[in-house]
Amino acid sequence: MLVPARSHSRVRSCAPTRAALSFGGVTAFGAVESRFASIAPASAKARPEVPEVRGSESSKGHLQSRERSVTRTACMGESGQKPPLNRLGWFAPKRSLLGAGDCRDSRACRGTIGARDPRNPERGVLGETSVRPVVGFALALSLMAMTASAQPSSHSRARLAYTVRPLRNGDTLEAVSVELRFKGSPTGTTVLDLPKEWGGKTKLYEALSDFSVSGANSRIQAGAEPWERVVHHRAGAWIRVRYVVHHADEGAARQGNPYRPMILRSRLQLLGSTVFAAPHKTDDADSVAVVLKSFPRTWTVASDLERSDLTFKDLQSSIIVAGDFRVLTRIIRGAPLRLAIEGTWSFTDEELIDTLAKIWTAETEFWGDPTEPYLVTLLQIEAPAGSTSSGGTGRSAAFASFATSNVAAPRLTRMFAHEMLHTWIPNRIGAMPSGVSEATEYWISEGFDDYYALRLLGRAGLWSPPEIVDALNHVLGQYAASTVRTVSNARIAAEFWTNYPVQQLPYYRGLLFAAFIDYKLRKNSAGASSLDDVMHVMHKRFEAARQPIRELFVSALAGYGVDIQGDLRNYIDDGAAIALAADTFAPCGVISTDTYPRFDVGFDLAATGQGGGTVAGVNPGLAAYRAGLRDGMKIIAREAGETGNPMREMALRVNDNGTERVIRYLPEGRDSTEVQSLTLSKGLEGSELAACARRLGGV
Ligand SMILES: [Zn+2]
Repeated sequence: MLVPARSHSRVRSCAPTRAALSFGGVTAFGAVESRFASIAPASAKARPEVPEVRGSESSKGHLQSRERSVTRTACMGESGQKPPLNRLGWFAPKRSLLGAGDCRDSRACRGTIGARDPRNPERGVLGETSVRPVVGFALALSLMAMTASAQPSSHSRARLAYTVRPLRNGDTLEAVSVELRFKGSPTGTTVLDLPKEWGGKTKLYEALSDFSVSGANSRIQAGAEPWERVVHHRAGAWIRVRYVVHHADEGAARQGNPYRPMILRSRLQLLGSTVFAAPHKTDDADSVAVVLKSFPRTWTVASDLERSDLTFKDLQSSIIVAGDFRVLTRIIRGAPLRLAIEGTWSFTDEELIDTLAKIWTAETEFWGDPTEPYLVTLLQIEAPAGSTSSGGTGRSAAFASFATSNVAAPRLTRMFAHEMLHTWIPNRIGAMPSGVSEATEYWISEGFDDYYALRLLGRAGLWSPPEIVDALNHVLGQYAASTVRTVSNARIAAEFWTNYPVQQLPYYRGLLFAAFIDYKLRKNSAGASSLDDVMHVMHKRFEAARQPIRELFVSALAGYGVDIQGDLRNYIDDGAAIALAADTFAPCGVISTDTYPRFDVGFDLAATGQGGGTVAGVNPGLAAYRAGLRDGMKIIAREAGETGNPMREMALRVNDNGTERVIRYLPEGRDSTEVQSLTLSKGLEGSELAACARRLGGV
């Protein structure tokens, strides 16, 4: 990711999360990837070859971010820099975020920012914010209350203070007003930067209007660029700029993810990087305060801007949702995990937050860290008929996700496990390189994340051994089918944002390399140590002193008697194919290696996806053509088959000039490839099954 040098220590280090779009409930022919879908159980297993928006939140999001020193990725968490564990701040924001004068009656103020204490619901709801901080957790109550009341308002101390208000016409939300208070430059002229591009969305400034300024004989005018406003003022004076943010989300017609301001009649979603203007050259580390004011009492509000120690970077990577969201809270080992959700789903709110709680608990326990406040937002989006879409973006202490109502729960589970795990991998186990070379370590930041997401889903009891084995086999299959399987790491770094198969490779390669090293460690130590130990050593050492992630990995392994340098060179840098030993996952079963025809769907998936399912690029030499598939037919649904699996019959329901029919064929390419797969031992039960679960999930 491209980030300015000065923000090196705070670089977020993860590859993008993209929306996944599929037709007829399968992802294969969607225009969009979901690598999460790729590891989801069978119904949502396949992945398309091409993302709807290449690196939607990626290349563009990063390139553009350079100008404002804002680094965003789709992944969550703080960067390599360990966030303060003493998060006293997580409650002070209730004070700073929710303006005094709103929600004076805590009982009437449903679900406003801040956790609701299930043991004492009334306390947990935010009340008179400027008078007394209302704390949701009895445990922290006294200490926090003292801290909060002892400090002057963060709003007056911050370099940048924002106040966000809904603009309503009767009951209808029409827009959002933002007021920004800052100290003008000593020259008497301050240039404001408006949001420009982020997450594949361009011209974000077009959603902002009606700029006005007050104080110090000031005036505001258009700048040289459409994303600039120039404020003239008395030198060094405090300035107040107001502007209006309008609804700009494209609805069902959107390409990519719902990142533009969404301001609907009864709901809003604002991503920081798309709504907040700031003085030119504001530093990521500059202090920021935010107040949300005058929201209707019947509205819920949830945001990750709930800390008193907010920085500009936190603001940029924040999420605010409000309106008809339902906010649920679970206290996980003393800290709130919240879910803000709207819409109707195939699962209940309770089921989802219980799943999130299990994931978050398993992950924090595995790493041995205290839990911290975390927010997950889930917005229901529309998509073209017959398609499924899900995705999200990591925020500073939250994950903002969105999906169509027909999304399968396991797909979301997988996505949440991966994203939440970025809190540690890589953010707390090693420093990622900055700039374009960051992708050279995605094998660990994404691949190891995927490996551990599976392990921890097992550990959390959310996925059974057969489900984990399914997911592993899917990765083995995708890896075998990859047309770029053996490209060098340098090429991954060079083409990550522009070549979709290359972009997928570090996920597969990294996961299999993790399995390979895990096995090696177990074997060397006769089962006494594993990759888990190495992860813990890295976590501990990184906490003590920041070091590059690869150096920490090498030195941690050396501590277990493994010199990994040769394997790193061979499998990661040079890209040699990874072959797992037959007993890698013993006692679960055996890994076998078979030769299969290489998968080839027989037409141009990318072009077909881009064309909304209209078939393009049928290869006349392959089975799809022989079965009758032709350019111009419209794919209604895939009724059977799996992307990457040449052995499974593909069944496509198509509209052929007004007539519906199903075309069936084996998606075999011309050449062949070796595919590994893990077969669970027959009749695993009782203690043997438990041993397998331990091997796959760790306990
Ligand atoms: Zn990731």
